[in-house]
Amino acid sequence: MTQRNPPRSLSTDFLIVGGGIAGYQTAINLLPLGSVTLVSRGSIVSGSSYYAQGGLALPWGFGYDAVESHVADTIRAGAGLCDPANVRVLVEEAEEAYATLVSLGVPFDRDSAGELLLTREAAHSRPRIIHAGGDKTGSLIVKTLAQNVHGHERFTFLTPFRLHRLLKEDSGRVAGGLFMSEDGQEWVSVRSGATILATGGFSALFARTTNPPSQVGDATAVAAAAGAQLERLAFTQFHPTVLDLPGQVPFLLTEALRGEGGHIVDQKGHRILFRYHPDGELAPRDVVSRALWLEARNRPGVKLFLSVVHLSENYLRQRFPQVYFHCLEAGIDLSREPAPIRPAAHFQMGGIRTDMDGRTTLSGLYAVGEVASTRVHGANRLASNSLLEALVMGNRVGRTIASLRAEGDLLPPEALEEGEPSPGATHEPGALSLEDLRILLWEKAGIVRTEEQVAMGEEEVLAALASEKTGETTPKEALLHNALTLSRLLFEDLKTAPRVGANYFVESRNSWGGSSPDSAHAGSKEKTV
Ligand SMILES: Cc1cc2nc3c(=O)[nH]c(=O)nc-3n(C[C@H](O)[C@H](O)[C@H](O)COP(=O)(O)OP(=O)(O)OC[C@H]3O[C@@H](n4cnc5c(N)ncnc54)[C@H](O)[C@@H]3O)c2cc1C
Repeated sequence: MTQRNPPRSLSTDFLIVGGGIAGYQTAINLLPLGSVTLVSRGSIVSGSSYYAQGGLALPWGFGYDAVESHVADTIRAGAGLCDPANVRVLVEEAEEAYATLVSLGVPFDRDSAGELLLTREAAHSRPRIIHAGGDKTGSLIVKTLAQNVHGHERFTFLTPFRLHRLLKEDSGRVAGGLFMSEDGQEWVSVRSGATILATGGFSALFARTTNPPSQVGDATAVAAAAGAQLERLAFTQFHPTVLDLPGQVPFLLTEALRGEGGHIVDQKGHRILFRYHPDGELAPRDVVSRALWLEARNRPGVKLFLSVVHLSENYLRQRFPQVYFHCLEAGIDLSREPAPIRPAAHFQMGGIRTDMDGRTTLSGLYAVGEVASTRVHGANRLASNSLLEALVMGNRVGRTIASLRAEGDLLPPEALEEGEPSPGATHEPGALSLEDLRILLWEKAGIVRTEEQVAMGEEEVLAALASEKTGETTPKEALLHNALTLSRLLFEDLKTAPRVGANYFVESRNSWGGSSPDSAHAGSKEKTV
C-alpha cells in the first residue's frame, strides 16, 4: 500500500471546477470580486468546448421577431420538455454574451463588408449560427476566454486534478472541494466562499462518443454523493453525423454541413430522411439519429453517408477546415465523395438541477454549462444552443455571486474538518471495467431503448456496485466508482422519465427482431431478450 502525502490546503474566494467555456466565462465574471481558483482535469483541450465546430446560436438582429423565433425553435426541438421561461432568459441574454465575446477579441467570421456570416443548422427556422475560424468556433472562444484569465494576479490554475469530494461546513453549506491528482500522488483541499461546478457532460460514458475522454461525469457523481439533486439523466443527445471509420476515434461532422445543404444517403445515393420527417436533413437531431439507427436495423447491410459533394473543395477548405482536413487525412475528399457516418453520444440535456442563477439544491454549490440541468434544452437540444447556455449562465452565476458577496456573504471558512482523503471504492481484478461499462451504456441506454435492456443494464451496474470493497482507492477505481454511481442514477431515471425526444423507447427489442445494429461495432456483449 502506498503512503499518501497529507493534502495541501488552499483557501480561495471562488472555486471553479472545470476549464471549458462555462468555467472560464464564470471566472471572467468573478475575478473582479476576489480570488479565483480553477481546478481541471486538463488544459482547455480536455473539455468538449475546444471541439465545438458548428457555432453559437444567436437571435441575430436581437429584435422582437429574432428573439421570438429563436425561442420557438428551441422549444419545438425540445419536444415538449423545455421550460419556456428559462428558454426566454437564455435567448434574451444572448446579445450580452455575444458583446462580451467580441470585446474580448473572439474573431467571428465576417464577410468582406464586415458583416457577420450566419449559417443554419437543423431545426433552426432561419440562419442564426455565428462561427469562428470556419469550424473552429469552440477552440477560438475558449482560448480567448482563457487568455483573458490566465496571468491575472488573483487567478490560480490547478491541473491535472479531479474533484474527489465536496467539502461542507457543519451547517451543510458546500465550502470547497478535495481534489486528487490524476496519478493519485497528490491531494489538494480547497476551501472556498462559493463552489462552482463547470465540469461538462458525461457523453464519454458511452462507448461511441464525440466527447473527449475526460467527460465521464465523475464530478456529477460527486455532487450527487454530496446530496445535490440530479435530473433528466435519461436525455442523452446522440449526434447523427459522426464519421464511422474502422479503428478510428469517432469524429464529428458538424451539423452546419447539413445546414449548408448536405444530404444523408445510402450506398445507392438515395436520401432516406424524408421517410422519417418532413424536414428531411433539417429535422431535429434525435429524429435524425433514430432514423439512422432504424435504417441500420431494418436494412441489414445498408451503409449510410453524409454527402456534401455540392460544395467546392475551395469552399470546404475555408468554411470547414477542421472537418475537411480530418477527412482528407482519413482518405476521404469531401468535395468528391460522401463520408460514412453513424451516430454517437454527444450532449447531456440533464445533469445537476439548477435554477437560472446557477444555484443547485445544495447551499454554496453552483453549476454552470453542460453539467447543469437548467431545462432550456428539454428533451433534445437545438444545435448550437449549448455554447450559448455556457456563456449566459456563466454571466448569471457571476451576477448571483456578486450580489451575495456585496451583502458580505460567501466568505471561505477558516478551516474545514473534512479535508482528509478517506477510504474509497476498490474493485476486484476482473470486475466490470470502465470500458465494459461504456459498452453497456451504449447498448442498454443508447439511441433506442427497451424496458428489457434497461432492466438488464441496471442489474449489471447494481451488481458491479455491490461487488465494490472499501479501501485505499486509486484514481482509476475512484473514477469507475463515480461512473457506476452515475450509471445507476441514469438507469433509474430511464425507468420513469417521459418517453419523448431523446428518451425513445420501444415496447420490446423483439418488435424489430434480431439484435441492435450497434452491437457488431461495439465488440458487443449483447444478450438477446
Ligand atoms: C465535437 C463537439 C462539437 C460540438 N459543437 C458544438 C457547437 O458547434 N455548438 C454548441 O453550442 N455546442 C457544441 N457542442 C457542445 C458544447 O461544446 C459543450 O456542451 C460545451 O462546450 C460544454 O462546455 P462546458 O464548459 O460546460 O464543459 P467542457 O467544455 O466539457 O469542460 C469541462 C471541463 O471540466 C473538466 N472536468 C471534467 N470532470 C472533472 C472533474 N471530475 N474534476 C475536475 N475537472 C473536471 C474538464 O477537464 C474540462 O476542463 C459540441 C460538443 C462536441 C463534443
